[in-house]
Amino acid sequence: MNRRFRGILFDMDGVLYHGSQRLAGVLEFFTVLELPYRFVTNNSSRTPTQVLERLHNMEIPATVEQILTSALVAADYLHRTAPPAAKVYVVGEVGLRTALIDEGFRLTDDQPDYVVVGLDRAFDEAKLTTAVTAIRNGASFIATNMDRVLMNETGSQPGTGTIVDRIAEASGQTPLVMGKPERPMFEMAAVQMALALEDLLMIGDNLETDILGAKRAGITAALVLTGVTKRADLVTSPVQPDLVLENLLDLLKS
Ligand SMILES: [Mg+2]
Repeated sequence: MNRRFRGILFDMDGVLYHGSQRLAGVLEFFTVLELPYRFVTNNSSRTPTQVLERLHNMEIPATVEQILTSALVAADYLHRTAPPAAKVYVVGEVGLRTALIDEGFRLTDDQPDYVVVGLDRAFDEAKLTTAVTAIRNGASFIATNMDRVLMNETGSQPGTGTIVDRIAEASGQTPLVMGKPERPMFEMAAVQMALALEDLLMIGDNLETDILGAKRAGITAALVLTGVTKRADLVTSPVQPDLVLENLLDLLKS
């Protein structure tokens, strides 16, 4: 492997596994990997502990500190920029709620200072109205990510971006986005690893999030063809990775 990298960021689905099925060569790759690494996921619905359990079920070596979700990035952003104990209205699930509570924020629908939006599979008109009203009344609008589609065990479902779009449309406001391809997630990973962005290698399967985000942040980007992107997609894409790998083991040869 090219030794100019000092740390690796892994996307998970399509890179390490599909659903609950670990991809071929992944364990072998981690056996020889000597660099520090983090797992970076836009999915805000699970807590790091839940993500860890999933990785451990597939025998992928990880600690809870190595897991960075867009929910944690949102909580970290508010921790750095919001007044202590600011009031937050959350559209989201346990991963996002826990991350914000852990940073000391009060979750409420009563005159919140922030509206933070993640994946919420129980999103409805009432939540839409509460979020839009709060934003119209001056609350800051934060989105964990803008993914259109979320892959799951049985296929796919509408992603967080579809919820964020409805709130943006009705409120007339554009959110600040925390996850890939935006910068905050990459910056938080770099800070945690005490490395510069240019010392990192991002390995992902998605051109629009993993690769675009890494390129914009000044991170070397490796596309693995084990997920959503096929080699043919590269021909027409304006986003081009620095490396193209058939699978993770290919990186060891590059
Ligand atoms: Mg992926």
